Amino acid sequence: MDAIGYLFTALSQKNSARFIFVGEISKIFNKISHKWLLENIPINKKILMEWLTCGHLFKGKIIKLNEGFSNGNRIYPLVVNIVLNSLSQAIKDGLPGNKTAKREMKVNYVRFADKFIVTAGKKEMIINFIIPVINKFLSERGLTLNNYKTKIVEISQKGGFNFLGFNIKKYKRLKGEVLIIKPMRESILNLFSILRKSFKQMKGYPELFIIKKINNILIEWANYYKGVVSKKAFSKVDNYVFWLVWRFLLKKYPTLGLRELRKKFFKKKGGKNWVFSVLTNTGMEITLRRLSEITIKRHIICQPLNLYLPENFKYFREKIAKNLRDLEYSDPRIQKLLIKQKGICLVCNELLNLQEKWEVHHVKPKKLGGKNDIKNLIVLHQMCHSQVTHTKDPKLLAIFKKKGIIK
Ligand SMILES: [Zn+2]
Repeated sequence: MDAIGYLFTALSQKNSARFIFVGEISKIFNKISHKWLLENIPINKKILMEWLTCGHLFKGKIIKLNEGFSNGNRIYPLVVNIVLNSLSQAIKDGLPGNKTAKREMKVNYVRFADKFIVTAGKKEMIINFIIPVINKFLSERGLTLNNYKTKIVEISQKGGFNFLGFNIKKYKRLKGEVLIIKPMRESILNLFSILRKSFKQMKGYPELFIIKKINNILIEWANYYKGVVSKKAFSKVDNYVFWLVWRFLLKKYPTLGLRELRKKFFKKKGGKNWVFSVLTNTGMEITLRRLSEITIKRHIICQPLNLYLPENFKYFREKIAKNLRDLEYSDPRIQKLLIKQKGICLVCNELLNLQEKWEVHHVKPKKLGGKNDIKNLIVLHQMCHSQVTHTKDPKLLAIFKKKGIIK
């Protein structure tokens, strides 16, 4: 989460900015001005015009627009980025004084989609200079701020402030103040509600199915928050899930007592009691993940380099591979395999990215006694895996053998 990494950099020091303008742009999708886009966006005018005015089908009729984007318009994210990236410069230009004076105002701009933050050393800075610049900038583009979601906060004020699902606040400690970024309360409650509903929908389902489904939900949520102070939140989630699991088991097996249920479904593992796990048909043990076991690591922000220049390919390749290795997966073997393979698919030598599906491949097949052991496993793109399992081409088979993909 680069936006949160930048915020940490801008706010965490002793003499960092104390005031934050939290802004959200109102209905950017529906309201953005076509005239402004056509006059200012460096894209072929004719093509842009067609994109903007082609309209969309709604109940059998073509709806044409004079402002904003049609539903499903593919250039929307690109155009919004081009439009809003220049807000940062506009704010800087709008500040009074010379370069040194401007730097001392501690003005930083962090944006994600239509939400953004501007920091400043003084509240008056925000009211007298920053807000007028933002309003002027937006109105020229047919846009306005969402007044309900826009506010000015002081970094240590009660409750801090929320941004992109995170709560951000400076807390007083003996040695001074410390900036803490953690999952916001509403996001934890929202996760609880999703988990509760999932258990309700899966009433009476096999335990294996439950564990897989709940692991996916937990891991997706945890990957979003594992770069900040989440230890406490993660424990809270674990306790809540534990309670849901018990309620589920008691309902599904009304005749079994607590002791029998414990013996049937919970194991001692790695120094932990009460590990909810079941065996698959092939004898593999599938365990319900505990978020409190996930290592919290601060996210390292990307350098501001152009992704499309060949000289930067290596940097991004390594950065993406590292980010993938740092993620958690509902199948815990994946992370170990990614580290072993440096994030590369051994068949095509390309990165294993999140846009494609992956599969775990057994070097010695299971039916020939191959084990579910990391040493016998490789993670491959689904397409590449399919090639390994189906090809009869002797040349390819020889290459796979040489690379250690098959025996
Ligand atoms: Zn591949």
